[in-house]
Amino acid sequence: MPDDQDRLTDSSIPERAVGKIDPGREPPAPKSVMTIHAHPDDQEFTVAGTLAKWARAGSEITVVCVTSGDSGSNDPAKGAADKPELAKLREQEQLNACRVIGAKQTVFLRYPDGTLQHTLALRRDLTRLIRKYKPEAVMCGDPTVRFYGNSYMNHPDHRAAADAACDAVFPSAGTRLIFPELLEEGYEPHSVKRLYMHGSKTADVWIDTSGTIALKIRALREHRSQVGEGKDLERMMREWAAEEGKERGLACAEAFRVMVLD
Ligand SMILES: [Zn+2]
Repeated sequence: MPDDQDRLTDSSIPERAVGKIDPGREPPAPKSVMTIHAHPDDQEFTVAGTLAKWARAGSEITVVCVTSGDSGSNDPAKGAADKPELAKLREQEQLNACRVIGAKQTVFLRYPDGTLQHTLALRRDLTRLIRKYKPEAVMCGDPTVRFYGNSYMNHPDHRAAADAACDAVFPSAGTRLIFPELLEEGYEPHSVKRLYMHGSKTADVWIDTSGTIALKIRALREHRSQVGEGKDLERMMREWAAEEGKERGLACAEAFRVMVLD
């Protein structure tokens, strides 16, 4: 296949797992997927259209929310004492959104919001979850992107969660003697087959979300403490979806960089 030839590096080792991903064709829904995000609402802003589509195709979806969004208010009347209540509210909003999408289970790791770091403790926690739920695919952000255009700096929590998720997928989840304490807890290695990263500048897979964009917006609206009820949100989300699909001639899409690990 000429396409494959083009992608071979000098050493003849495929730079990407060529032949396993056809950029022109949408991959089938995985049997199970774990989606890992820093904050409640990250998932709904980014990948919820794909998740809703896959849920309807029978995928078992496990949502991991690393923080509970306890810094997600700039109300001058609120202080540190209000953080636990805000976290509780935002967890409930995330659960409501997950119900709209059709996610089977949601796990909150309750790291502090706004100061998340890519630590071994976080990597271990994510490794434990991957070994426990054994997802075929994992979905997270692209940890390499720091700036989008000239007006959006990627939140450090997003980068930290994505970095830890990638490292948990490889090598920690599948390598027996990394985190041997997990073996003692009963968690055997598990190899994830696909890693889907959203927000990448080198997307190679597009999921047509025209059938689930309305659900995505409905799920996003469940984050009532964060988003308004007006028409602007819907317009913005549809514009983003059109923008992501443009390169593939899709009216509505979510784009991913996919690592094929099997
Ligand atoms: Zn966020």
